[in-house]
Amino acid sequence: MQSGNELPNDSRAKYFGQCAVMMLNALQQESDADPFSEVTSVDLSAETERGHEGIYDQALSNALAAIVAAEWPGEEANSQGRVHFARVLLKVIAEKIRPEPATGLCVIPDRDADVRSPLERENRLPEGFWDTRIDVGLLTDALDVSGRARHGSGTGRLQRRHVQALLALDRHPTLRTLLGAQSDRDDERAWHEDARSVDQARALLQLIGDEEAERRAESTENPNEYHPKHNPDGHDFEECPVCGHETFCVQGLDMWGRVAIGQCVVCSYRRSPRVADQEGFGEHVTWLMGED
Ligand SMILES: [Zn+2]
Repeated sequence: MQSGNELPNDSRAKYFGQCAVMMLNALQQESDADPFSEVTSVDLSAETERGHEGIYDQALSNALAAIVAAEWPGEEANSQGRVHFARVLLKVIAEKIRPEPATGLCVIPDRDADVRSPLERENRLPEGFWDTRIDVGLLTDALDVSGRARHGSGTGRLQRRHVQALLALDRHPTLRTLLGAQSDRDDERAWHEDARSVDQARALLQLIGDEEAERRAESTENPNEYHPKHNPDGHDFEECPVCGHETFCVQGLDMWGRVAIGQCVVCSYRRSPRVADQEGFGEHVTWLMGED
């Protein structure tokens, strides 16, 4: 096995992220292949491109080692300090966490649930979004499939369901790497600023009152109105998540093209690129998982 044995968790996370992105691409190319087919449901049995088995194993081994080391320090390795193989790490997890009877998943609850911005908790992401759900059975099956493929003794290939089970590990706070090199601290700061912006917006709304807010909403013009010739990068107003008026001026979109960056011209609420990226990523993953 690759040297990954003594890697610190941030290196494991980075490695996991790189490999996981490659697995994502292996899936995306397959759906890009037919641009005319509207993706309305996700085919969990869709196969990934051949040759990705080793990448999958690396991503899984690093993710599991990082999670076990973070949750139960020391249990990721044997008495000589050698990190266990993925299959053994999955057994460790299954012994530590009783699987949920309905789903068979081992769930590590979100340990930051209390500090998340109230806005995120209330409006944005479904309950338990940041819990880590580990499908020990499916991930073990993935190891079987990839092992057979790598030794040329099987025809089966890794499927979308296996990749999704792998990507689900990214919810664990020691990973969360799929957005790139961002740190948890930057994210926390961004969410903190977002919450403060919401507070300021609400204070302003209270100060001017409903009628005045209504009046402003009706008389305002969109500073970034779309025009095919004069402002092709413009956008229509969107509904503001704080005041509810159709006055959120869109200045750009998150990296997934799903969530608007910008500011409301009535209540002043501002959504930063980082927060938009995070929300967009949440929606993107939800879409990938076929939960829509
Ligand atoms: Zn507003």
